[in-house]
Amino acid sequence: MTGPEGTPTRFVIAGGGSAGWIAAAVLARALPPFAAEITLVESEEIGIIGVGEATVPLIGELNRFLGIHEPEFVAATNGTFKLGIEFVDWAEVGNRHFHGFGDFGADIAGLPAHQYWLRLNREQALPPLDEWSMPHALASRDRFAPHEALSGEAAQFRHAFHFDAALYAAYLRRLAEGQGVTRIEGRIEGVERDGASGHVTALALADGRRVAGDVFLDCTGFASRLLSGSLGVPFEDWSHWLPCDRAAAVPSARAGRFTPFTRSTAKAAGWQWRIPLQSRTGNGHVYASRFLSDDEAVAQLLAGLDGEPLAEPRLLRFTPGRRARFWEGNVIAIGLAAGFLEPLESTAIQLIQTGVNRLLDLLPTARPDPALAAEYNRQTALEYERIRDFIIAHYCRTRRPEPLWRQVAAMELPETLAAKLGTWDASGRVPLYDLESHQEPSWVSVLVGQGVLPRAVHPRASHPPADQLGALMEQRRAFLAQAAQRMPDHARFIARTCASPVPA
Ligand SMILES: Cc1cc2nc3c(=O)[nH]c(=O)nc-3n(C[C@H](O)[C@H](O)[C@H](O)COP(=O)(O)OP(=O)(O)OC[C@H]3O[C@@H](n4cnc5c(N)ncnc54)[C@H](O)[C@@H]3O)c2cc1C
Repeated sequence: MTGPEGTPTRFVIAGGGSAGWIAAAVLARALPPFAAEITLVESEEIGIIGVGEATVPLIGELNRFLGIHEPEFVAATNGTFKLGIEFVDWAEVGNRHFHGFGDFGADIAGLPAHQYWLRLNREQALPPLDEWSMPHALASRDRFAPHEALSGEAAQFRHAFHFDAALYAAYLRRLAEGQGVTRIEGRIEGVERDGASGHVTALALADGRRVAGDVFLDCTGFASRLLSGSLGVPFEDWSHWLPCDRAAAVPSARAGRFTPFTRSTAKAAGWQWRIPLQSRTGNGHVYASRFLSDDEAVAQLLAGLDGEPLAEPRLLRFTPGRRARFWEGNVIAIGLAAGFLEPLESTAIQLIQTGVNRLLDLLPTARPDPALAAEYNRQTALEYERIRDFIIAHYCRTRRPEPLWRQVAAMELPETLAAKLGTWDASGRVPLYDLESHQEPSWVSVLVGQGVLPRAVHPRASHPPADQLGALMEQRRAFLAQAAQRMPDHARFIARTCASPVPA
C-alpha cells in the first residue's frame, strides 16, 4: 500500500464538496498514517455546489464507519429524517405514490408479497399497495422512529436523512481534519504530468504553489478539472433518455407538514422537490430547457412553495451522463466530476460513497495497476447505468400529455431497462442485474404506484383462496397502521433527540 521505498502513499484530493470531504474522511479512517498521507485542496472562492440535501439509507453505513453519532450529526446539519419519497402527479395529475425504504411485507409461500396484492387487486378493490409498506405507514402520518424502535414486520425498513449541504461539507471537514487530513486553500490552475507514464505528479496552484502526490482524486464537481480538463476523458451524454438539464433551487420558510420524506411533484416540463429541514425547506425545480424557459421555471417553482422564499432562486445547468472512464492512470473522479444523474432518487451521495468504498477495495498504490482501474471502471459504469434505468422508469410509462412527457413515453429505452420492463409486464417480477442499487420493492413501488400493472402474475400466487388471502393481507395492513400510530411525531422525535442549534 505504501509509496516508493516504504513511504506513505500520497493521496491528493482536488475539491472540498461532499465528494472531496467524504473521500478524505473515509480514507483517513481506513488507512493508517504510515500507509497514507492525505491532502485536500479546495477553493473557497469557487465554493461548492451547495445542493444535495436528500440521501438514501446507505448513508447510515458511512456514518457507522466514520463513528458518527447520529443525533449529533442530525443536529449539526440542521437535518431531518427521510423514510422515502412521495411522488405526486407523476403518471398523471392526481396520481400519488410512495417509494419507501422498505418492502411490502414478508414473502408468502416463497413469493414476494406484492405478487399477492397484484392477484387480489384483479379480483376485488384493494387499498393502494403503499399501505403494506411500513415507511409509508409512518410517513403518511408524519411519524418517525428508527427501525430499532419497532419489531417484527414493522421493523422491516431503513431511514435516511435530509440535511443542509453546506453544513454537511463543514461537518465532514471537521471530522477529516480531526483524522489528520491536511487542507490547502487554493485554486488549481493546472497539473504537472510525468512525460513517460502520463501520470499526474502535482497540482499547480494559481499562487505558484505545487501539491505533489501519488494518487489524485478529482472531486472538483462539474468542472472535472483533472479527469476531463487535464486528461481529456470524454463524457457519455444521456440526455436523449433524461431530457431534464437545468434546476432552479430556492430555500423557503418552514410551513405546511413537517414530513419525514422528500416530495417530488411532476410538472409540465420536469418536477419539483421539497426537502424539509429543521429551520427551512429546500425546494428545486428540475426541468428540460427545451420545453421551458428559465423564467417560467422559476415562476413555477415559486408558485409551488408552501412558505415564503428566503433567497433569490439559483439556476444550475447540467448534462446527465457519466465519464467514459472514472479512473485513468493515477486519477480517480468521484462525485459530480464523475457523472450526473438528476436528483430524483437522491443517488449522488450514494454514488460518492460506493465510489470511495470501491477505491478502498481496489486500493491504488503509487503506481496504480491498469487492471485495477479497468475493474473500477467496469463496476462504476454498471452502477451508474442501473440507477439511470431506474430513473428513466419513473418517466417512460407516464400518461401525462405535455410535450416532455410525450417524448419520454415514446423514446427507445436502454436495452437493459426494456428487458426488465418486459419481464415485469409478463409476470410482475423485476429481474435484478449485477450492481443494482434498487431492489425489487423499489421498482414495484414506482411501477404499481404509477398504475403500470403486469399482464399476468406468478401462477403460484393463485393460492390460497381469496378470502384467506384477503384476511392475511388485512391483518398485515392493520398491524403496520397500528405500529405506526404508536410512534412519535417527526417534529417531536427531532425536538427530543436531535434539535439543531442552527438559527432559522
Ligand atoms: C440540482 C441538484 C440537486 C441535487 N440534489 C441532490 C440530492 O438531493 N441528493 C444527493 O445525494 N445529491 C444531490 N445532488 C448532487 C450533489 O449536489 C453532489 O453530488 C454533491 O454535492 C457532491 O458534489 P461534489 O463534491 O462532487 O462537487 P462540488 O460541491 O461542486 O465541489 C467541488 C469542489 O471542488 C472545488 N474546485 C473546483 N474547481 C477547483 C479548482 N480549479 N481549484 C480548487 N478547487 C476547485 C470547489 O471549490 C469545491 O470545493 C444534486 C445536484 C444538483 C445539481
